[in-house]
Amino acid sequence: MREVSQEVKPEDSELHGVMEDLRDTLTELQRVHGLGRGIAAPQIGCLKRLVYIQTEGFRDYLVNPRIVWRSQEEFMVWDSCFSLDVAFFVRVPRSRRVRVSFTDGEGRLRLEEFSDGLSELVQHELDHLDGVLCVDRVRDPREMAMRKEWEKRYRTPGIGM
Ligand SMILES: [Zn+2]
Repeated sequence: MREVSQEVKPEDSELHGVMEDLRDTLTELQRVHGLGRGIAAPQIGCLKRLVYIQTEGFRDYLVNPRIVWRSQEEFMVWDSCFSLDVAFFVRVPRSRRVRVSFTDGEGRLRLEEFSDGLSELVQHELDHLDGVLCVDRVRDPREMAMRKEWEKRYRTPGIGM
């Protein structure tokens, strides 16, 4: 989880299997936990630069994603992670908008701009590829909440993870 993942190469033969695993794992986690919108390959033990996102407005793979631009404007979001067992939530700053280049699940090279909820999600998942967890981005250590408290006081639809 703390390591830097490697670029995906076109000749990676196990890639297809990893992609299927990512989709199945996220679907199952969403069913069990009732939240979560994305997953990164290192979370299932594969140190490759590959992310899968499955949420309203976006459902695709991001292969070798790279943030090529980010807005100066930031916003604060409550975030958590399956790799932290979704046991607690932390409040972190994220860029309001990011532009990302990646190869999608069909092998097409794309450049997409994400904003707000999708922007913070993409930043969270791409952090995993560099071994960074949302807890590393906490500015104020008092801004942590156990899941129960977060559900009661802070939960807003579709945020984090
Ligand atoms: Zn995560």
